Amino acid sequence: MKKEVIIIGNGIAGITLAVLLQRKNIPFVILHREEEKQSFALGETLPPTAMLLLHELQLLSVFEENAYRKTYGYHSMWGSSKVTDINFFHQNPYKNGLKINKQQTLAQLQAAVKEHTVSYQKGFEIIHSAHGNTVILAKNDGIKIVQGKILVDATGRNRAVLKKLKVESTIHDELVAVSCHIPKIKHPKLTHEVYVESFKEGWGIVSALNETENICSLFTDVGNEILPKLKDASQWKSTLAETTYLKDFLTEDTTTKVKGGNANSSVATQIAGINWLALGDAAMSFDPLSSHGITNAIYTSAKALEAIEKKLNVADVKAFPEYAETLQSVFKQYLQSKDLVYQQETRWKDEVFWKRFFITGS
Ligand SMILES: Cc1cc2nc3c(=O)[nH]c(=O)nc-3n(C[C@H](O)[C@H](O)[C@H](O)COP(=O)(O)OP(=O)(O)OC[C@H]3O[C@@H](n4cnc5c(N)ncnc54)[C@H](O)[C@@H]3O)c2cc1C
Repeated sequence: MKKEVIIIGNGIAGITLAVLLQRKNIPFVILHREEEKQSFALGETLPPTAMLLLHELQLLSVFEENAYRKTYGYHSMWGSSKVTDINFFHQNPYKNGLKINKQQTLAQLQAAVKEHTVSYQKGFEIIHSAHGNTVILAKNDGIKIVQGKILVDATGRNRAVLKKLKVESTIHDELVAVSCHIPKIKHPKLTHEVYVESFKEGWGIVSALNETENICSLFTDVGNEILPKLKDASQWKSTLAETTYLKDFLTEDTTTKVKGGNANSSVATQIAGINWLALGDAAMSFDPLSSHGITNAIYTSAKALEAIEKKLNVADVKAFPEYAETLQSVFKQYLQSKDLVYQQETRWKDEVFWKRFFITGS
């Protein structure tokens, strides 16, 4: 099989790029690794600023139709024991964000590019040269060879293509997340259904997923003494007994499953090469505090499309380096603003989790 573009990874970043390439009639293939594990719904929140980007890319209706609901603001207890109400009413032009149903949104987008999708089960190898890329897929019924001028890493935090190309990552912290679905509770003191609260060893977010469930994610660092207790949801309520409202949402049910994973800030040391590029979390991954992971996946897909068009249509050799430069500058700005947000929480500035944000020159 020969195509102009080979995309590996079909999360939001890979699928968005596939949909955009399809609209431009650029031949592509998206390689889909069949997973045995059921995916876990994180119920990501999109801020109002993402609505404009989705609108411009004519993707807003797909995200809206499949969303759990619109969000009109959130509450946070960060930096003091006072609850802040962030209302989107003053945002323009969109006065709402979205609580997305990623699995359902992906299923609709994946169906749109189904005929360009190749599934495999057992991994892939890459033969990469300045003249093109060959990907060898290991399937249950043998191997399949796919060739393409441009190779795209959309494998999220795994950075599976980058690893094979021997591109390393710069890791900025060791943040990890533990998440679980818990019965929905409408808190009597909160009106919005998204709530963030910081605590001595990290921070947590709880939000309504649907009519019956909330999703709660807690964030701390690898090695923090609280982490072993957070791996067991039945210990969350006792472990976070000193929180103000967060504890009210938690369950002591011993059957609730906890899903853990990396949530740190990191960036690939090289985001694009002569005929390959990375997008979404594979290029740069954000702390979920920013609520910008999905926006980043969509934004980088749109930027990647521009770079790919320039490369294929007018052989523009600057297109990929410029793409990489743009993303690096976005990541630099993101890091600065993220640290400023963490620095607003001064109550525990001497604690292991928080003190790194107060080291001069960090
Ligand atoms: C706890 C938590 C909460 C979050 N909350 C928010 C939020 O509120 N708002 C927000 O915007 N973002 C949030 N995010 C971030 C957001 O989920 C990600 O930034 C976003 O999903 C990244 O999309 P992606 O397509 O780049 O990567 P992914 O979604 O990771 O997709 C990667 C795809 O590649 C596939 N893949 C992986 N490895 C391989 C391989 N070796 N071979 C082939 N395929 C492979 C995967 O199966 C997957 O389909 C949160 C993240 C976490 C951890």
